Amino acid sequence: MAVAEAVAEAGATVLRGGAFKPRTSPYSFQGMKEGGLPLLRRAADAFGLKVVTEVLSPVLVDLVSEYADMLQIGSRSAQNFPLLEAVGEGSRPVLLKRGMMSTVDELLLAAEYVLSGGNQAVVLCERGIRTFESRTRNTFDVMAVPLLKSLTHLPVVADPSHGTGRSELVLPGARAAIAAGADGLLLEVHNAPTEALSDADQAIAPHVFRDLVSSCRDVAVSIGRVVGEERGHPIPGGS
Ligand code: PEP
Ligand code: MN
Repeated sequence: MAVAEAVAEAGATVLRGGAFKPRTSPYSFQGMKEGGLPLLRRAADAFGLKVVTEVLSPVLVDLVSEYADMLQIGSRSAQNFPLLEAVGEGSRPVLLKRGMMSTVDELLLAAEYVLSGGNQAVVLCERGIRTFESRTRNTFDVMAVPLLKSLTHLPVVADPSHGTGRSELVLPGARAAIAAGADGLLLEVHNAPTEALSDADQAIAPHVFRDLVSSCRDVAVSIGRVVGEERGHPIPGGS
């Protein structure tokens, strides 16, 4: 509730959280699972947000679709073809994250699985790829954003939180993604970042999120991008 309120106030339009969490270790926090879905819905509704949350398996598509406005396919599921087919037959828009070892073409082919099932509402997400670099959790491939936009009509968003894995790199990553043409950002926000049960190293506090939104707006405006008016707050220089 606290995070939803803070991000809505700062201009977020969709609340993204994991009820079903794909964790690399079976001993890590696995999410609240089914019980988390109504909580996400309630928090989003209370502050005028939409909900996007991950669906981990074809058998969960109907359940998650009851609570979520959009279904996330996480990086670890980017080539789970039965799951891509299942959301392709569903009615909810899909947020498709790039596999951590997927090429741009493999991401586009994953999207093709969803589109060819009849679901045309797909948003692609660059979230970093695994490389030899070990200072960052992933290597944020910011050039994938304009590349994808030149190859497809689909909206492209970027996730500098997973892309870098380091909270202090989220702001520069977000600015770079907006400058590169991203249609949106996916950002992990926590009201007490160090206490987050998942991905604490990359979570930013609400006041950082607020400053980030304003900085990204400045970047967008400075390169002549049209910035949407959100929640009745007129944006200087935007239209
Ligand atoms: C997430 O968005 O919380 C997530 C698990 O991300 P990814 O699938 O990109 O690792
Ligand atoms: Mn995460």
